Amino acid sequence: SHPVTYRGRFAPSPSGPLHFGSLVAAVASYADARNQGGDWLVRIEDVDQQRTVPGADRQILSTLEAFGLHWDGPVLYQSQRSEHYEAALAQLRRAGCCYPCACTRREIAASGALGPEGPIYSGRCRSGLPAGSDPRSERLRVEPVWLQVEDRIQGSVCQNLATEVGDFVLRRADGFHAYQLAVVVDDAAQQINQVVRGADLLSSTPRQIYLQQRLGLPQPRYAHLPLALDAAGRKLSKGLASAPVDPRDPIAGLERAWCFLGQPPLPEPSTDVSHFWQQAIPRWRVDAIPRAAQRLGVGDTGKG
Ligand code: GLU
Repeated sequence: SHPVTYRGRFAPSPSGPLHFGSLVAAVASYADARNQGGDWLVRIEDVDQQRTVPGADRQILSTLEAFGLHWDGPVLYQSQRSEHYEAALAQLRRAGCCYPCACTRREIAASGALGPEGPIYSGRCRSGLPAGSDPRSERLRVEPVWLQVEDRIQGSVCQNLATEVGDFVLRRADGFHAYQLAVVVDDAAQQINQVVRGADLLSSTPRQIYLQQRLGLPQPRYAHLPLALDAAGRKLSKGLASAPVDPRDPIAGLERAWCFLGQPPLPEPSTDVSHFWQQAIPRWRVDAIPRAAQRLGVGDTGKG
């Protein structure tokens, strides 16, 4: 059999310009793929069209180019893939794994225990909609099983989906497919076998593996990066108006991300981004990445 080529990806949500936390995910996923002679793909995760900011996709892509992060193949847009999500949903329906749910967000918050991922759904609509109510969302029926992930950075992670998450939404009340479904369908469609992303998604990974198993899709390997926190200890996010990275000073951003990822200093000062990557790619080491979230100093997050 022929050796399997590494296929990694970067999957930003176009809800604003690239901030330091997403630059770290882009740099790490790119370096890991290129270090192993692999492909690196980009997918714009605009499945939640209510959070999409017009033009943010172009802005993110041009920032990636400025940082010398050149991707393989066409960029995939989730907003153009609903028929594929619908087909996966139909497969799960046929297998009896889904059910319509009439509960509102308020009812769920009021009735369920609070788990680490938010309110745990009580299962009220599991055996049928309450009389006279209309379906709003569609949920996946979760069996009480433990899911274990061997993360390349965070080590072994165990989650009981039934007690920690509960039956989760695949199609939302507003009609959009849920991120958990879209990401699983798209990672498989793009033949991604290595996922490198922020640790905020570590607790979503068991749900994604569960869906892969239900859909008969292969399971990629996972590596979850330490989160970048602002000086006050909050997660950087596009929505929180975190300082965007400056595409006019890519070397500074790349060096900050490289250092954040625990990588050794490069032997020579980089003259341009291709010189940076020429030095960086062969020196990339996953085992040097720290596990824990790190706070950034003031002025460290954006234009420095
Ligand atoms: N779109 C997600 C984000 O920007 C990333 C999803 C993923 O890497 O699986 O946070």
